[in-house]
Amino acid sequence: MRLTIKIGSNVLTRMDGSLDVTRMSSLVDQIASLRKMGHEVILVSSGAVASGRGELKHIQGDLDSVDQRQLFSAVGQCKLINRYFEFFREYGISVGQVLTTKENFSDTEHYKNQKNCIRVMLENEVIPIVNENDTVSLTELMFTDNDELSGLMAEMTKSDMLIILSDIDGIFTGNPKDPNSRLISIVKPGKDLSEYIQTSSSKVGRGGMKSKSGVASKVASHGISVVIANGKREDILIKIMTDRDNTPCTEFLC
Ligand code: GLU
Repeated sequence: MRLTIKIGSNVLTRMDGSLDVTRMSSLVDQIASLRKMGHEVILVSSGAVASGRGELKHIQGDLDSVDQRQLFSAVGQCKLINRYFEFFREYGISVGQVLTTKENFSDTEHYKNQKNCIRVMLENEVIPIVNENDTVSLTELMFTDNDELSGLMAEMTKSDMLIILSDIDGIFTGNPKDPNSRLISIVKPGKDLSEYIQTSSSKVGRGGMKSKSGVASKVASHGISVVIANGKREDILIKIMTDRDNTPCTEFLC
């Protein structure tokens, strides 16, 4: 299967804001196993701004939000891609960095060009590691978050499945911290989940369950099944692909 896998900032960041390289390494191990099983992977990874912020702790104070995003993403993206590059290299897997903007998904020429870039990478067995180019994205024209970007990528690449990894198991019937809340494991096409969705967004990334659920419904309605799961759970990607019925996650059927 062709899989678009999105890893959120909160999966890759420790409590103190630093990059969780142990987690990254474990996710890379899992992606390497998925490749061995014959799956093709497009990785959409957040974490640039969060890891740049962790790296530049000493200069937080006086920057406005645009300056912060540009500076932190510039530094953090280097760190992030370097780590991925080294971790995947241990498996003899080549990866390439794709930094993109919303424009590349809007008009036809840009769209074709972006699609061609991913095609040539996949054809040559290079894993695209995609992120928004936060250094040049204009605030008004940005992707809502990388959930939106991953949905667009899954559609552009005609993926069979989109897996969105966050730090929660999926969509619950109430606040996930409330013991009475239940994880919704299957979402049938057209099911409206708005009554269940918490509106708060993540502390370190831009997304939240509302955006994940919106993206997931849209992508599923275009024929691509979507799984939302907890990227901090051990071997989560393997379990999703081999034993989904016994794995905590929310699957949007298409
Ligand atoms: N592109 C941002 C980053 O790498 C993440 C955006 C999001 O949180 O969805 O930090």
